[in-house]
Amino acid sequence: MAEFHVPGYVGKILRVDLNSKKMTEEKLDEPTLKKWVGGAGLAAKYLYDEVPPGVEWNDPRNRLIWTTGPLAGSGISGAATFNVTSKGPMTNLAGCSQANGYFGAYLKFSGFDGIIFQGASPKLVYLVVKEGKAEIRDASHLAGKDVWEVEDQIRKELGVRERDVSVYAIGPAGENKVYYATITGDRGHVVAHNGMGAVMGAKNLKAVVAFSGKRNFEVHNPELLKEKNNALFEFAKTFGTIYQWGSGGGFSTLGANGALPVKNYTTNLYPEHEKMNGQYIRTHYKIRPVPCYQCRIAHVKEVEVTEGPYKGFVGEEPEYELLAAWGPQIGNTELGAVVMLTREVDKLGMDCNEGSWVVGWAMECYEKGVFTKKETDGLDLSWGNVEAVKELLNRIARRRGYMGNLLADGVMRASRTVGGPAADWAIYGCKGSAPRGHDHRGNTRWYELLDTCVTNTSSLDATWGGVHPKLVDQEEATDHFSHEQVSTINAKFSGIRLFDDCLGTCRFAAPHPKLQLECFNAVTGWNWKLEDAFTVGRRITNLLRVFNFRHGARIEDERPSKRYGSVPVDGPAKGKNIMEKWPQMVENYYRLMGWDPKTGKPLPETLKKLGLEEIIKDLK
Ligand code: SF4
Repeated sequence: MAEFHVPGYVGKILRVDLNSKKMTEEKLDEPTLKKWVGGAGLAAKYLYDEVPPGVEWNDPRNRLIWTTGPLAGSGISGAATFNVTSKGPMTNLAGCSQANGYFGAYLKFSGFDGIIFQGASPKLVYLVVKEGKAEIRDASHLAGKDVWEVEDQIRKELGVRERDVSVYAIGPAGENKVYYATITGDRGHVVAHNGMGAVMGAKNLKAVVAFSGKRNFEVHNPELLKEKNNALFEFAKTFGTIYQWGSGGGFSTLGANGALPVKNYTTNLYPEHEKMNGQYIRTHYKIRPVPCYQCRIAHVKEVEVTEGPYKGFVGEEPEYELLAAWGPQIGNTELGAVVMLTREVDKLGMDCNEGSWVVGWAMECYEKGVFTKKETDGLDLSWGNVEAVKELLNRIARRRGYMGNLLADGVMRASRTVGGPAADWAIYGCKGSAPRGHDHRGNTRWYELLDTCVTNTSSLDATWGGVHPKLVDQEEATDHFSHEQVSTINAKFSGIRLFDDCLGTCRFAAPHPKLQLECFNAVTGWNWKLEDAFTVGRRITNLLRVFNFRHGARIEDERPSKRYGSVPVDGPAKGKNIMEKWPQMVENYYRLMGWDPKTGKPLPETLKKLGLEEIIKDLK
């Protein structure tokens, strides 16, 4: 084969068979990269090709696919994102999830665009990649350790400094196959969705380590990239509140729109929001920037709590979703406790979104007498009891006791097990997907509610919060409670988010799709237009949709749980709801996506248009 020279790529995938410990390199080629780009796209292709129906999420034949994209490590701001794809436990369907930090760039510097794990190791191991070589190491001494301890221990045994390596690991939750276990690394960055950490636990893989290094791939036009990178940075500074106040800067605005999740959606009133937002944190706590690889936006901070019962506690500045999870959703008004619980859930390796839906549901059950101290093994789960929540999270991560084990499978399964009226109080998409940390019944969030329910990635496929429709040449909505407008906007937006998930860039650092595409063109030299980007994203959506149908997805499950789709009883969106029009909303979405409006299956002509002729037969 000719020397590989596609700008933006190293050109190699590492395949690791954890049964036999055999490791092989596979070469990438330009046609494949032009079809799937990288990240979520390339991983979706491998998942489809290699995981047939009948292989469940915890089957050793399942694949755990880590990929990065052409922009990672290219020198643009915040470009070290990577993607993990697998068949995940929450939905037992496809899952794609991304994290920032350093790993995406370091993986390429270590010689690979991606790693495919297959099989399961007989004992706990971790993988190190460096200078084009890979080594599987024993990890039995890391069993039961939390993610932060694993990072410390691995650096110590490799004899390296903090930024010499990027370490992503599972904590106790992943080892115990908690359904919403994460892969967490680089001190608090999280591959959060659809239990990728549980898949890793099922494979007995504790951590993956990539080394720092120099750029080892070509950039087509470095001067142009520099210019476009500057433009992207200037735009990113104006994107929402991220640059100045972090993702928590929008917390109070969400409250004003009835979009904060408060006490498991039993109310929308949370007057304490002004003491829980990003503005409050950054004007009251001690702040230390801990940016991702070469990020100029640098929104990630470490904070020291300066007041209240947790004064002196040092932890990550909670992102918006963590503020929502460990503030209003559990009835807590103490900001310092949010910092404490953020550190706890990250260390244990669990998704804060599903973690808080589970805990909030258990608290409501406790309030209403469905659970007593008998079921909770002595825990007082009153709203706002943050120390009880800390203990509960630890029990869940280790599946300890009745409550710990019940909640470890996620709120959909736990609520169905308990049954009775409590079954109606749980918040979830009926495919098993966990909503992001909002009240999606609020004034501007039905887009995400629909997206969460019809997802093909087990996360959000179509919506890209904060990106103005005009940036991708789309019309703005005039009525956020119109089922037609919500479904039409989602269908028109569909594609660009998944293209973004192919690139290896952070959504906060590169929030302008056209400028991001110009950076992509400067790196690859491909001169793509916006419609090419949309086509790749839609190709991924459709491929995963066919994958999911083959693996048992049902359109009856493309709806919210009763509580998730219920009518707000108070607050800014009181009495508003569009569930009555749910069937029409979904049908309109299917139709605009080129899917059969009744069965939800991609039509043959849609697949053909996207270059997916070869999978038409798989839907029969
Ligand atoms: S914007 Fe924030 S999350 Fe994104 S790369 Fe920069 S520091 Fe990391």
